[in-house]
Amino acid sequence: MSANPDVSKRSDLAGNIQQLPGVIMDSFVYEGLASRVVFGFGTLARLRDEVRRLGCSRALVLTTAAQRNRGEDIVAELGNLAAGLYSNAAMHTPVEVTRDALKFAQELEVDCLIALGGGSTIGLSKAIALHTDLLQIVIPTTYAGSEATPIIGQTENGLKTTQRTLKVMPEVILYDVDLSMTLPLQMTVTSAMNAIAHAIEALYSKDANPLISTLAEQGISALARALPRLTSDLTDKEARSDALFGGWACGVCLGAVGMSIHHKLCHTLGGSFGLPHAETHTVVLPHAVAYNAEAAPEAMARIARALGVSDAAQGLFDLAYVNGGPTRLADIGMYEADLPRAVELACSSPYWNPRPIEQDAIRHLLNNAFKGVRPSN
Ligand code: NAD
Repeated sequence: MSANPDVSKRSDLAGNIQQLPGVIMDSFVYEGLASRVVFGFGTLARLRDEVRRLGCSRALVLTTAAQRNRGEDIVAELGNLAAGLYSNAAMHTPVEVTRDALKFAQELEVDCLIALGGGSTIGLSKAIALHTDLLQIVIPTTYAGSEATPIIGQTENGLKTTQRTLKVMPEVILYDVDLSMTLPLQMTVTSAMNAIAHAIEALYSKDANPLISTLAEQGISALARALPRLTSDLTDKEARSDALFGGWACGVCLGAVGMSIHHKLCHTLGGSFGLPHAETHTVVLPHAVAYNAEAAPEAMARIARALGVSDAAQGLFDLAYVNGGPTRLADIGMYEADLPRAVELACSSPYWNPRPIEQDAIRHLLNNAFKGVRPSN
């Protein structure tokens, strides 16, 4: 081989290459989930094409009552591709609402679903898909992340149960940053904390894997970076874009790996005591992280690094508090008299967790969250 005159001899350059210590990768299993993601500003203009791409022509648009106007705009934009609008989506996916929407969808003979909104509307879309296998295009307007998971939570007789099934996985996620611009401040903060919670539990999940852990750190960073900017200016486009990307990244984490004590507590408090979803995540998260701190030191280091702080649990408490998020269960509808039952429910049929579920410690955790004191073990 002829020597390249522009490059010195290999032996002369060898000293420039540093030998770095190697690491043995922990063994893991990773299963990718199929879905098409369209992300950007103004992407709603592509909705008609997305409906056609799925081969559909009778879409049922879903929203909450509060976002009905947006739903009407979409029906108008879709023209002959829209079959109707159902605008009664509600938090925690009550089965009565699903039954009502299913009847409406069947009467209209729809061939796909378009859910515009947060986790409540997307939850309804998933519940309908569970029964009908209808194709779904979801347009998330919060950071809850449900769009990226094969998980559905449903509430019946005051009990919320969740299941994982690919039947509920949306075919298309259309993120239009413009639609997230109207998310009010309190919901922006709490929804971001909800998203961060997904990434955090992914980092200490028993199914953790290097791809998802990298994404988790990126998602936490994007949201933590966006929050202070959005607190001072809700129309900051860069921060909105960062936050919506973070919502997706964290949703992917939740969809790919398991949930632990934090989600179990929030499902209990939401499903059995009617507490609002994102606010509950915001209050509980620092305490759940403190609970697991000693059992999951590597995850704690990654969370702290993503937040740019020295202690993960304290950093999360500060992130919520400084940005005006709730810190006390007492302020979001929890009654002190219900705490013992909440402890009992949270400890029954627990999700896998890096630290074993100890009833006394869970009582301490919930007492701290109830009062809004700093997290401790
Ligand atoms: P949400 O969907 O209930 O929305 C809260 C309120 O904000 C609603 O009134 C909604 O209309 C309004 N809103 C949403 N986006 C808006 C916007 N851009 N501008 C103005 N108003 C807007 O709240 P959420 O926290 O997104 O979702 C909570 C639900 O999602 C819960 O039922 C929870 O269990 C579920 N969830 C499920 C998963 C999953 O993977 N299955 C993941 C996260 C959350």
